[in-house]
Amino acid sequence: METKKVLRCNGCGKNISSENGMIREGVLQVDWNWGYFSEKDGEKHSFCLCEACYDRIRKSFVLPVTVEDYL
Ligand SMILES: [Zn+2]
Repeated sequence: METKKVLRCNGCGKNISSENGMIREGVLQVDWNWGYFSEKDGEKHSFCLCEACYDRIRKSFVLPVTVEDYL
């Protein structure tokens, strides 16, 4: 029996589409362990954003993100 964990966008709440465990759309997944010099020392924060939410948040940055080809 296959367990299905539905991934949801933290920005808008929509389900991220997947097929047989493979994510089928653009999604940013973050797992971050906050360190000693933060106010969240010892906490791991995880979230994901669909591509539309990522683009929306990215536009609010003061500096543009660094974009490089990786293929
Ligand atoms: Zn979203």
